[in-house]
Amino acid sequence: MTIYILGAGPAGMAVVDGLIDGNGGDFVLLEKGPCLGGLAQTVSWKNIGTHDLGPHKVFSLDEKLVDRIENLLPISDWLTRNKISSIYMKGHYLPYPPSPFSLAGVFGLPSFIRMIAGFGNARLVSLFSSKSPCTFEEDLVNRLGRPLYEVLFKPIALKLWGDPCNLDVKLSQGRVQTPSLSEVVARLLKLKKSSDYEALTFRYPKGGLGRLWSAIEMKSQRHGKYLLQHKVTQLVSRKGRIQEVHYQANGTYSKIEVKPNDYVVSTLPLRLTTKLLGDALPNELIESADEIVALNDLLLVFLHVEQSSLLDESWVFVPDPKIIFHRLSEQESFDPEMIKKGSIVCCEIMSGPSRPLAEKTDEELCASAVKGLERMGYSDFKLLDQHVIRLPKSYPVFRIGFEVVLEELIQTLDQFENFRSIGRQGAFNYIGTLDAMDIGYGFSAWLINGDSQQWQKERERTNHYPVLD
Ligand SMILES: Cc1cc2nc3c(=O)[nH]c(=O)nc-3n(C[C@H](O)[C@H](O)[C@H](O)COP(=O)(O)OP(=O)(O)OC[C@H]3O[C@@H](n4cnc5c(N)ncnc54)[C@H](O)[C@@H]3O)c2cc1C
Repeated sequence: MTIYILGAGPAGMAVVDGLIDGNGGDFVLLEKGPCLGGLAQTVSWKNIGTHDLGPHKVFSLDEKLVDRIENLLPISDWLTRNKISSIYMKGHYLPYPPSPFSLAGVFGLPSFIRMIAGFGNARLVSLFSSKSPCTFEEDLVNRLGRPLYEVLFKPIALKLWGDPCNLDVKLSQGRVQTPSLSEVVARLLKLKKSSDYEALTFRYPKGGLGRLWSAIEMKSQRHGKYLLQHKVTQLVSRKGRIQEVHYQANGTYSKIEVKPNDYVVSTLPLRLTTKLLGDALPNELIESADEIVALNDLLLVFLHVEQSSLLDESWVFVPDPKIIFHRLSEQESFDPEMIKKGSIVCCEIMSGPSRPLAEKTDEELCASAVKGLERMGYSDFKLLDQHVIRLPKSYPVFRIGFEVVLEELIQTLDQFENFRSIGRQGAFNYIGTLDAMDIGYGFSAWLINGDSQQWQKERERTNHYPVLD
């Protein structure tokens, strides 16, 4: 049996690793790009050094999963870093997630009292209300009270995904954990420093995330083939099975015949998959997928500066609408040895229908990013070089009601006997690297040992992962 894996992101690479560990047969992996790792790849930048596409922390509450991933590299190749995040608001840098007292310093005592009163009131009302919220805004107003929502979450939502009244409640439920009243009181009294869902430290492989993918590649070489720069262009199905995988490589089109025992697992964007399958899916389903599976473009501006370190934090969140980026990070806070001289700062810019920034040229984006840094008070850095990496259609936007269509789509795809679509893009799930790997490992374990009955349970198991800031 051969397993065809479409896409070499963390989900696809974990499928490979899981197959090797479980003696699950041979594989062929097709990836359209020139390297392994998908959104979690590590790239070289001239002779300046290497960087991730926005440095990625390795963190999960699932210790077994973390152990499995750490075992891919020698223990001495792992770094433990303190996670320091802040949020830039009205000229102040607050620890992120912000402690209640820090908000008083920024917004003044009267506003702070309104926020705390709003929060207390919202928690009280929620004890007696059985109404389920439908939107991002309703959910957070119900959980946190309007004053806190308006200053903390609305501005960042507007910048990232557009009007929060049009965003599905699953987005807020997945991304924002509500502290209990006792936790808020404990933090007010400074008895507790962090939230239960907050990573205080994280792990990082020396040399970048790409080390993980190289380790899996080395481990798996005798069991399969990596076909890089092979873009999947069509999936042909007959009798409820995928029979052919068509691809384009070096300007020519070819196809792979999928034999009766073979299996195809895709981590490609779900909307693309519906197109690749063509007439195999009902037209209405393809149309509703087009409407509901919305993805924003992420534009990454990388600035090479002369200073060995510009930021004090691993990440800075920037809700201010006057600043083009929503998040800053610096590769040096993850592994300083990846840069030969100076530092690489990554400015993440989201572009979507309500903020169409992808139309800007690279030069315009870089100039706006530098202006944003200056506005935030980083004025004395010397810029040595700059470049932009565009990740079109890479950030999920959960529009209201998307889950119903998504469920129908996934259920329809799951009816193909030898095909599954998984991962962040493949199941339109807002997840991190380790979650994507968990899904890949789960898939390969199911393929090796499970039966068709158990698949639904595996889908349910991997449907929700909390966001851990
Ligand atoms: C800026 C940024 C910062 C992030 N930071 C973190 C972090 O700190 N911690 C964390 O846990 N997660 C982070 N993430 C999220 C993490 O990168 C993703 O969760 C993870 O990469 C998802 O893995 P995946 O395999 O499901 O999808 P992807 O990584 O998207 O992989 C899909 C692969 O499919 C390939 N593909 C697409 N179309 C075709 C085709 N037609 N033919 C062949 N191949 C194709 C793509 O090239 C890609 O390699 C971040 C993401 C970004 C963009």
